[in-house]
This record gives sequence, structure tokens and C-alpha cells, in this order.
Amino acid sequence: MSENQTVDLVVLGGGSGGYAAALRASELGMTVVMVEKDKVGGTCLHRGCIPTKALLHSAETVDVIKEAAQFGVNGTFESVDMPKVNAYKDKVVEGLFKGLSGLVKSRKIEVVQGHGRLVSPTAVEVDGRTIEARHVLLATGSVPRSLPGLEIDGSKVITSDDALRMDTIPGSVVILGAGAIGCEFASVWRSFGAEVTVVEALPHLVPLEEESSSKLLERAFRKRGIKQELGARFEKVETTDGGVVVHLEGGKTVEAELLLVAIGRGPVSQDLGYEQVGVEMERGFVKVDEYCQTSVPTISAVGDLIPTLQLAHVGFAEGILVAERLAGLAVTPVDYDGVPRVTYSSPEVASVGITSKVATERGYDVVEATYDLAGNGKARILGTAGAVKVIAAKDGPVLGVHMVGERVGELIAEAQLITNWEALPGEVAQLIHPHPTMSEAVGEAHLALAGKPLHSHS
Ligand SMILES: Cc1cc2nc3c(=O)[nH]c(=O)nc-3n(C[C@H](O)[C@H](O)[C@H](O)COP(=O)(O)OP(=O)(O)OC[C@H]3O[C@@H](n4cnc5c(N)ncnc54)[C@H](O)[C@@H]3O)c2cc1C
Repeated sequence: MSENQTVDLVVLGGGSGGYAAALRASELGMTVVMVEKDKVGGTCLHRGCIPTKALLHSAETVDVIKEAAQFGVNGTFESVDMPKVNAYKDKVVEGLFKGLSGLVKSRKIEVVQGHGRLVSPTAVEVDGRTIEARHVLLATGSVPRSLPGLEIDGSKVITSDDALRMDTIPGSVVILGAGAIGCEFASVWRSFGAEVTVVEALPHLVPLEEESSSKLLERAFRKRGIKQELGARFEKVETTDGGVVVHLEGGKTVEAELLLVAIGRGPVSQDLGYEQVGVEMERGFVKVDEYCQTSVPTISAVGDLIPTLQLAHVGFAEGILVAERLAGLAVTPVDYDGVPRVTYSSPEVASVGITSKVATERGYDVVEATYDLAGNGKARILGTAGAVKVIAAKDGPVLGVHMVGERVGELIAEAQLITNWEALPGEVAQLIHPHPTMSEAVGEAHLALAGKPLHSHS
């Protein structure tokens, strides 16, 4: 594209939200320029979903070797070679990055490398070049947050970005924050042999999940030797020669080699010209309507930059929505309750729809059934504990499915269809699940809720 040409869409930020919008917009015949200061793929591909799941797979491999004897297989665990683990992780990321770059190129999206700024309702500037467009999409994502007075030094007090670059396994670690990122690192490091303590200000691990799921994860983590300080407020951290001393309110201290700060992520929106151009903001996030349009009609925003669930697949959905809206297609707002959420720790926690607490607050007369994985053949074979809980409106549709156990992340796809299609428990009970699979637990929970439990003891 020539420098002075006005394109249909300029996307600022090439992460999950930005590149999904760019791909869909070009598919719909729009001319697109995407500005990226680092690497297309953003946090998810380079510092998030993909590298963490590769680490979790290495961790699972350790567990499989260590637990082999219980399946009658003799083997000896020797050690974890972190440089080799990282080489494997980086190879996965590199392969996906190449694939994505090729896809972006094949859709004729021009990628402009550099730090962009919004300079008008229809223009972004990068290193002196002004890109004029009919529409602008802000997709600059997020970075790890800290607390006032909690200084990240990158060696003893670190974020997930630093943790993913480590070539050694810490002997001991304190993890501040028990959301998905904190619990996933707790799981990895414990499998790799570290002493792990998770500190969470709220009363439970994965505090946004159904309380029964949190409790099952807490029990499983306790069995794995992962220590938990729940309802414990962080006060300060001191760095010492050997590592860190983490002080909690009330006087308790926890010592470790490292402190991982995993208390959430804040939007990347400072000094990018957003306010100057008139984009309304709220606590650093860009405010949007249900169609991801900002207060400036030519400007949209998606992904971690807006105050919706910070998940890659939410960014994809919002990006696609914006591209289709700009191309004049009829679009439906994203249903955020219907977004599946997975914490990929061992065991996994997966959910979709609303919790029983939220359902009650919204005035539903809630009915629920819990199917314990102890009754599921495949779960017994794998040696995993956990449960599938289904909540529904009385005489009405399924409102939420909440699961804990190994591999339940793969079961959430079915639960998502059930919840989002507002199926009745009795309708799901009619569907036959293959035996022996973990998916039977989803069927069994619905059978129980429909009043005809099969392999249920209660
Ligand atoms: C450790 C970790 C694990 C995660 N695991 C999962 C998971 O398993 N599943 C899941 O769904 N989500 C996961 N997430 C969340 C997921 O990564 C984010 O929700 C997703 O990446 C958000 O996409 P985005 O496009 O909004 O932002 P980002 O992916 O952050 O992309 C923003 C892009 O904008 C670029 N940029 C910023 N400012 C500028 C500028 N001024 N000029 C040019 N470019 C700029 C950045 O370089 C970046 O590439 C994880 C996150 C972390 C940190």
C-alpha cells in the first residue's frame, strides 16, 4: 500500500484481538494495516497461553513418570532439564508464530513494525509515518500489574513474563494471586519439585469460580503439597541474599527464593493518544459499547484493553465482531456469561455460564446436581479426582457447568453448547455419551438433574 493511501482499517496491536479483527476484515474485502511493536501473536502466543501450556505439558510428563508405578510400569524419574524444556516450549511458539505470520501475509495484511500512537479519529502514527484509515481498532492489550510499593526486580520479585524466561527451577516460590495464571505456575513448579506457597487475599483459590470448584482445587493442591495462605493480605516483601521474605497482614511471614506476582493484568493505554483524541476511558481501560465501539464512532477497541474477560478467545470473538460490523454485516454482541473459562493446572478447573451464587442473585430458583468423578470409569483409569456440577433454573435451562479434574478443559466444549443453547437438563439426558470417557460425567450430571441418575450414589 502506498504511504498516502487511506485504508479501510488500521489495527493498533497485533495480539489475539487485533490479528483476529485484521484477518476477518481482510477476508471481508477490507484493506488492513496492522501496527505491532513486538511480535504478531501478542501475549497469548509469546508470553501467555501457549508457552504456559507447553510448560504444563512438561510438568504433566514429570508427574506421569513419577506416578508410573501405580499403573504397574517401572520407571525412574531423573531430572528436569530446564534449558531443554524451554527449547521445546520455544519451538512450539516459533512454529505457531511462523504459521500466523504466513496467514497474515497471505491475507495481504500489511504489518507495520513499530510503536504506534493514535493521532486522530482516523489515523495512527508510527515512526513518523501517518496511516490514515476509515476505521481504527485499538488492541494494545495488557501487561502484568503490581501493587503500590511492590517493586518487580525481574530476578527475585518477578512476573509471568520473567517466569517464562527462567532457565532454572526455584527451590521454593511464593505466588501472590490465585487466579488462573498463579495456579498454573503453582502447578508447574510443584511438579518440577519446588516448594510452593500460594497467597490469595480472597478466601479461595480461583476465587471467581463456583465455590465447590475452588474447594476441590484447594484439596487437590493440598494433596500435592502446594501450601495455601487464603484470605491473607500481602503487606510487603523484603529481598534477602537467599531470596525473599513475604510479609502478610497479621504478622505472618513466608520465605522463598522467589516471589511471583500474579495479581492480574492492567491495560496498555498510557501515552498512546487515546484521551487526546477523545476516547473515553475508565481506570485505564477503553470504554466501549456492546459492539466494541468507543465514544469516538470511527474507533473501536477489543481484547484485554477493554474491561471484559481477559482471555484470548474473548479477544478473537471481539475482533471478529468489530470486523464484521465495519463490513456492514449483522452482528450479535458477545455473551460474556457464555465464554468458557479454563485453568490448566493439575487438576484442571473449567466452567461456563454463571455460578449458583450469581444465579441466585439474579433471581433464579436454582437446582443443581454434582457428579463425582469417582464414579466415572475413565477418571478411575487415569487416577483423577474431581466433579462435574451443573446448575439450572428450576424447570428451566442449564445456567452453568463447573468442573474440576484432569482433562476437563476438553469437556467444556460440550458444556458450552449445552449452556449457550439453553438446553434443558432432560434434553441433555437424552444424549448418549461414549463409554468409557470422561464426557460421561457431563451426561451423568444431567441425568441426575433430570431426575434419573444412573451411576450416582446419592
Ligand atoms: C501467563 C499467561 C497465561 C495466559 N493463558 C491464557 C490461556 O490459557 N487462555 C486464554 O484464553 N488466555 C490466556 N491468557 C490471556 C491472553 O494471553 C490475553 O487475554 C490475550 O493475549 C489478549 O489479547 P489482546 O490482543 O487484547 O492483547 P495482547 O495479546 O497483549 O496484544 C497486544 C499487542 O499490542 C502490541 N502493542 C501494544 N502497544 C503497542 C503500540 N503502542 N504500538 C504497537 N503495538 C503495540 C503488543 O506488543 C502486543 O503484541 C494468558 C495470559 C498470560 C499472561
